[in-house]
Amino acid sequence: MEEMEIVDAHEHLPPEKVRTDAKVDALTLFSHYTRTDLITSGMSSENYNTIIDSEKPLDERWKMFEPHLEYIRYGSYAQPAFIAAKEFYGFDDINGSNYKELSKKMQEMNTPGIYNRILREKCKIRIALTQTGSTDYQGDLLIPLMPLDSYAGIRSAEDVSKRADSMDMTVSNLDDYLELAKKGVAKLKSEGAIGLKMASIPNSPPSREAAEKVFRDIMAGKKSSETSKLWDFLMNYLLDVAAEMDMVVAVHAGMWGDFRQLDSKHMIPVFPRHPNTKFDLYHLGMPSVRDTIVIGKNFPNVWLNICWCHIISQQMTCSALDECIDMVPMNKIIGFGGDYNRPVEKVYGHLLMAREDIAAVLGRRIDREMMSIDEAKNITKKWLWDNPRELYKLSI
Ligand SMILES: [Zn+2]
Repeated sequence: MEEMEIVDAHEHLPPEKVRTDAKVDALTLFSHYTRTDLITSGMSSENYNTIIDSEKPLDERWKMFEPHLEYIRYGSYAQPAFIAAKEFYGFDDINGSNYKELSKKMQEMNTPGIYNRILREKCKIRIALTQTGSTDYQGDLLIPLMPLDSYAGIRSAEDVSKRADSMDMTVSNLDDYLELAKKGVAKLKSEGAIGLKMASIPNSPPSREAAEKVFRDIMAGKKSSETSKLWDFLMNYLLDVAAEMDMVVAVHAGMWGDFRQLDSKHMIPVFPRHPNTKFDLYHLGMPSVRDTIVIGKNFPNVWLNICWCHIISQQMTCSALDECIDMVPMNKIIGFGGDYNRPVEKVYGHLLMAREDIAAVLGRRIDREMMSIDEAKNITKKWLWDNPRELYKLSI
């Protein structure tokens, strides 16, 4: 697998300049997902914001962070930080005796070309799909997806007039807005976006009548308590627009906060309503992996993207991948997405963990003589290269 060129099917990586313009240090390695574990271990969110603020004195921030390190260091979220410290900076651990030296080395290596060195040379990532709400990317490494809510979410008449201005259009009724939304998505596509991203949240069947009423109220400056009805209608409309424009719809499912509100099952009525739309369902809906795998089995227009899963729990990912092989066709699984923003070096650790998981699951099947090593290699290539390449029609 180390020799295999891959597609990284989900990141939040900004343009490289954002990373190289910022100061980095050992605590940058504990930004992003490790935040959840730090806060749950007892750190206040104010202190978290302080510890990742590289403009503030490192010693003070490390003192604030150190008691929590022992609580979080065994979790999957922390592993890529330790792997990065070792693989890129040559430290076997991150602790009170080496954090200054590690920080110095990280800053020295935070120079233009860092994405290429880490993503292309070390990880062998040919293309990484990224989401930062911008299409402003140069080169052929990062390809953006944009939020569906760029057009499905309307909170005020001002939202509508801003969007109309940016497209040189006038919007006075819902039909005008639908035309605007379609042109807006076409513009995102022309800027390089290859998909739209939404979340699996509670929703109802779309009603044009209900949506029109809410739209009129919003445009008249009235407060509406039924804005979700407008969202339901626009979301369903945009899913068809995505199909028409040959763009994939990525769907976040699971994990955050009240994860009942992000359950993959909210999308069960939506998938068959849009048979021509291709959905890339993320994170196996963790922790509802079984329900999500059955969705992947039953709906031809749904792919299962294992992005983020390997660093949530390798155990859960391995058992789920094994069940995926039992239930889901091999061309419908996408094996890796790093899901990071500023700490780009953590993508490598995540990839290493993904390779371990894939090797463990397929290796067991080889041991049980359920497949040959060549078949396992073939499946690995499908998960890490062929499937994301074909779903997103990447020209590589
Ligand atoms: Zn993500």
